[in-house]
Amino acid sequence: MPNGKFIYLQTFGCQMNVHDSEKMLSILTKHDYRPTDDIHRADIILLNTCSVRAKPEHKVYSALGRFKKFKEKNHHLIIGVGGCVAQQEGERLLDRIGHLDLVFGTHNLHRLPDLIDDIQASRRPMCAVEFYDEVRSLEIFPAPSDGEKVKSYVTIMQGCDNFCSFCIVPYVRGREKSRPSENILGEIKALSKRGVKEVTLLGQNVNSYGKDLSGGFTFPQLLAHSNEIEGIWRIRFTTSHPKDISKELIMAFGKLEKVCKHIHLPFQSGSDRVLERMGRGYTRKQYMEKTEQLREVCPGIGITADVMVGFPGEDERDFHETLDLIQRVQFDNLFSFKYSPRNGTRAARYPDQIDESTKSHRLEVLQKLQKQITFKRNQGLEERYEEILVEGMSKAAKEELTGRTSSNKVVNFKGSTDLIGQLLKVKIEKGYMNSLRGKIV
Ligand code: SAM
Ligand code: SF4
Repeated sequence: MPNGKFIYLQTFGCQMNVHDSEKMLSILTKHDYRPTDDIHRADIILLNTCSVRAKPEHKVYSALGRFKKFKEKNHHLIIGVGGCVAQQEGERLLDRIGHLDLVFGTHNLHRLPDLIDDIQASRRPMCAVEFYDEVRSLEIFPAPSDGEKVKSYVTIMQGCDNFCSFCIVPYVRGREKSRPSENILGEIKALSKRGVKEVTLLGQNVNSYGKDLSGGFTFPQLLAHSNEIEGIWRIRFTTSHPKDISKELIMAFGKLEKVCKHIHLPFQSGSDRVLERMGRGYTRKQYMEKTEQLREVCPGIGITADVMVGFPGEDERDFHETLDLIQRVQFDNLFSFKYSPRNGTRAARYPDQIDESTKSHRLEVLQKLQKQITFKRNQGLEERYEEILVEGMSKAAKEELTGRTSSNKVVNFKGSTDLIGQLLKVKIEKGYMNSLRGKIV
């Protein structure tokens, strides 16, 4: 019997969090909870949170503030917080937010149904933020219904051992834990049977996949085995760390036909002095050499990255080195951020913090430069033929479809819905800032 309870789930943050939310819904629907987009109908409100910068963290607190009135109207309502803020704050969050019932950390997704049952039975708040050697939530995989999805995420590892001086991730996601290769390949096969055509392998630092497994595959070996799975047409992965990207992985772009021509390779700064203080483990020269090798092995590869401005001690010269690296590499797109001090990280204790207005100004200059480059690169594809995987209806225009090139660029075009899930050849007619317009050939 369905218990008839409705869950409203709101997600903040990266793809990892988006996928964790899919896992949460998957286990909860197995326990007969039903997802809803209407918060007014919810019996349970869950927030899956991000603490990588101050901004997404603040959003969590303001969302929780807004939810108070729902609790006042419905005393049986359960409000829970999961993800990185939950892991970081633990019990403190329950002390701070009187109307909160549940705090569950990044290793505790699998306990969600039991935790909710316990709260319902005891009407007492619960906190579950333990780290485990064996991360059971890695093995929850939300299988889409037949034919429902064209692409899907697959978690291959959890956590990070790098401790970059600015980053909270190792503290809130724990140490690096790779998932056994056979479980990953099993999941990809299961997805393929359901009609999924594209998988994105997820981890904070996929290049170090397998280092903690005895006798398991390396990341390039995992890619090679995934490449053999029938029915899967495209393989993507994120995120790669420049210090760990091996020759073997670079060669995989040339050798494995299903591996998409796209890499997300965060560089964070173009200044060696700043990179050193960030503890990133590479120089700007090494970074640029890697991108050159990638373009040699895989012409036309889309290269995107993360970068931040206003890291402690970053002066005008450092910032100009970042701009110079952007000019030289000519990224297809960049995710750019103002450095945000995170409690407990080394960089938050550095004395030479940069003021907010300098950070804002640098971000504006950097984004303006990248916009020009992105636009120019997109225009450079006009009149070219590209293969795209059709993903669904376009959000931008009614009665249009949307797909992606292997290099991860969005293409909108006219076509009928029976094309969804197919690989199509299109001619690029126009390159815009955020997308391309194509025509079926
Ligand atoms: N593991 C990935 C890597 O090493 O590139 C990145 C993971 S992190 C969740 C995503 C991005 O957030 C980082 O690449 C970085 O640019 C940004 N980021 C992390 N900590 C930050 C901080 N304290 N302030 C601003 N941006 C930050
Ligand atoms: Fe954070 Fe560095 Fe690990 Fe990426 S590699 S998650 S930036 S500590």
